[in-house]
Amino acid sequence: MSVGHPERAAAFVADEPRAHWHDQALWFVREKRDRAAALVPDWEKLRDVAAGIRAHARGRLADLLEEFERNAVARGAKVHWAADADEHNVIVHGILADHGVHRLVKSKSMLTEECGLNHFLEARGIEVVDTDLGERIVQLRREPPSHIVFPAIHLKREEIGELFHDKLGTPQGLADPTKLTEAARAHLRERFMKAEAGLTGVNFAIAETGGVVVCTNEGNADMGTSLPPLHIACMGVEKVVPKLEHLAVMLRLLARSATGQPITSYTSHFHGPMAGGELHIVIVDNGRSRLLADPALRGALACIRCGACMNTCPVYRRSGGYSYGWVVPGPIGSVLASARDPVAHASLPFASTLCGSCDAVCPVKIDLHGQLLGLRRDLAARGIVPLGKRIGLRILAFFLAHRALYEAAGRLMRVALRSFPRGILYARWNTWGRRRELPAPPEESFRDTWRRTRGTGHGHG
Ligand code: SF4
Repeated sequence: MSVGHPERAAAFVADEPRAHWHDQALWFVREKRDRAAALVPDWEKLRDVAAGIRAHARGRLADLLEEFERNAVARGAKVHWAADADEHNVIVHGILADHGVHRLVKSKSMLTEECGLNHFLEARGIEVVDTDLGERIVQLRREPPSHIVFPAIHLKREEIGELFHDKLGTPQGLADPTKLTEAARAHLRERFMKAEAGLTGVNFAIAETGGVVVCTNEGNADMGTSLPPLHIACMGVEKVVPKLEHLAVMLRLLARSATGQPITSYTSHFHGPMAGGELHIVIVDNGRSRLLADPALRGALACIRCGACMNTCPVYRRSGGYSYGWVVPGPIGSVLASARDPVAHASLPFASTLCGSCDAVCPVKIDLHGQLLGLRRDLAARGIVPLGKRIGLRILAFFLAHRALYEAAGRLMRVALRSFPRGILYARWNTWGRRRELPAPPEESFRDTWRRTRGTGHGHG
């Protein structure tokens, strides 16, 4: 049996306290995002404008990328084009090899995760140090990130304490976040000082100026690009915005949607290399043109990787990032992975309740649940939906199409709910009832409460 989202999710929810805690941690971020959004007048208008900018940029992508290249080169950057992950990795390795680099520091870049750059470089004798704290934690554990903004969100501070004790020599049992951060800072500072090159992702590339913009909360991109003389910036083709004024719209949305902050702590603009240094920009396709050619899914290219759809998704929160089996998890990850290989990721379009919460928070208004529904339809048309699910849906469709049967089934369910021992029916509910959304079912039935408080024969029940 192939392992899909349900099987991987089952492994995650088997650790119930962790699943509960993961759910709560992400919901906390979602609520922070809501408060930050509510403080911006015309937030919804801002989302409309952002969606329009992304659609416009998608429509003129080739022109904008060429304009960006011209302007970046005019400012002294070297621009490389990579058709796929392999080419990207070869280009980056080539630049490093040309400069005799053996030690690279790297700020967060989901693109390089997508391309498997770390392994590629390490296999060729280059030390790669991820300098975002969360990324460094998962790197030390030899794990991929489980969230695009909070890579180590699945880990508790005690586990990080153990890891740091093991790898960085912190005292055993130390789990204080401030002290652990101090230890990580000292460890990373040493790596920064020794680095021979810095690699960053790109949040946005501005066509009219040829500049790239990198947003971090830890200042690690700035450290990594200020100390060594060689800076490599890797970007997907979709990162380009036409003008500087469009960047302002994106930045207002990005930080608030990602973490509920009004602005990311460090928003660094790189326009050309630093004095005496080199800036290489690698523009990567890796399946994005194919996505652009798909009218049903091309909207997904608007994604600015804020992670808000993950934080709000009831399935992601309760199944964890690794259950998706793809570098980008959550609703947008399900769309991107399926667009790339619908058969290999056939379970992902079903990893959604289709509640639409992802659409409601997406700063660039991607129709995520509509896309997931369309992907389900495609899978069904190709006969790829698992047999059990097919049979279940057929039965459901039959009942829904026959009103008398549907009502009879409803009556039967009500009788079952009244007749079965409550312990059996509510055993599972009681566990989940401790969670945020569902209050625990009362010990006493509503009918009994009514009778006890109002007296027999005076109510409707
Ligand atoms: S799909 Fe929207 S909400 Fe999800 S990460 Fe991308 S921009 Fe953010």
